[in-house]
Amino acid sequence: MDKTPAPPHRRATRLVHGGRNRADSQNLVNVPPFRGSTVLYPNSENFLVRRSRFTYGIHGNPTSEALCGLWSELEGAAGTVITSSGLSACTTPLLAFLAAGDHLLVSDNVYRPTRTFCDGILVRFGVETTYFDPMIGEGLQALLRPNTKVVYLEAPGSLSFEVCDTRTLAAVARAHGAVSMIDNTWATPLLFRPLEHGVDISIQAATKYPSGHSDVMIGLVAANAACLPRLRETNAALGQYLGPDDVYLVLRGLRSMELRLREQGRKALDIAHWLSARPEVLRVLHPALPECPGHAFYMRDFEGSAGLFSIVLDDATQSRVNAFVDSLTLFGIGASWGGYESLAIPFNLRGIRKVLPEDLGGGAVRLQIGLEDQEDLISDLEQGFAAYRASA
Ligand SMILES: *Cc1c(COP(=O)(O)O)cnc(C)c1O
Repeated sequence: MDKTPAPPHRRATRLVHGGRNRADSQNLVNVPPFRGSTVLYPNSENFLVRRSRFTYGIHGNPTSEALCGLWSELEGAAGTVITSSGLSACTTPLLAFLAAGDHLLVSDNVYRPTRTFCDGILVRFGVETTYFDPMIGEGLQALLRPNTKVVYLEAPGSLSFEVCDTRTLAAVARAHGAVSMIDNTWATPLLFRPLEHGVDISIQAATKYPSGHSDVMIGLVAANAACLPRLRETNAALGQYLGPDDVYLVLRGLRSMELRLREQGRKALDIAHWLSARPEVLRVLHPALPECPGHAFYMRDFEGSAGLFSIVLDDATQSRVNAFVDSLTLFGIGASWGGYESLAIPFNLRGIRKVLPEDLGGGAVRLQIGLEDQEDLISDLEQGFAAYRASA
């Protein structure tokens, strides 16, 4: 069971008051960035048994402890480790719980670089991966092998936004003795808390909403009590470390995350509804819309929606899709998301799906809705559609 007791206040309050140790901050509101490699000990005996709150730079400092403590509270986790990027938050727990000869089950809508890691490094280390349809539910049973050690989920999935039945998939994994982990970057623990649904490990590319300002790369991995020791050991053994200034910036980002996420989610949903009525739009891939695969699981498990979704344009060629994206003036073209600014990227799924369809039926664009005025964003999209219609 998780060691952390249920927090006495609601999460928006904890985001403001958690992770603030007054002794560490000398009564400043924020725990400052603590720099340090060497930690000095009072005597040799103490050094030999490492009996001290902090032992060496890589193992933590008051700034990282504040962030991990607050994050564990939000996730309802026994503990959290910090990694150097969102991607290393995906790969570190896989390395922690897999060994040569093991079998891994991965949701087919997983973040693409996670897939690259499974198909490259894990293959070299003798781990075999099977990709499954995120809508498989109880059918996952049939894919289990005696050596299946990890079930890896992502909800909603990258780019196509299917929402899996996390509870069922986690229960199937647990009954088999496999560790379940989920990339929870889209929802953050404000909108979905995987550990409460039986998942062992929750992964966050904190580069996105927790940081919130497109200036930090960081990963957070939260685990239940059973998985925490092995996760911590692996993270330390890999030599993972993130500098205190970046850790500090993420703590600062968290103070306003509830507000940002709520506002970006609300605007994104309004805009998704507006887009679904546009003649140029064939489909809107947004978990809160009934046509999204897994919408029922979204309704059951999630407390709201985030600011990222995709659209599929009708009657598309790549050059028309590009004309649409290029004509937008408020939406930057770039990877990553979760910052305060809107983004749009064209994408296709060719070569990155094993069981899900690679063809979404038209030209696909992913939108991240920022904190701009909603009417301005809609006007920008409107003129984008004019460019789309005008393009050959
Ligand atoms: C961006 C992203 C990551 C990786 O985060 P980085 O900090 O960019 O390495 C992992 N998972 C998902 C779902 C993401 O969107």
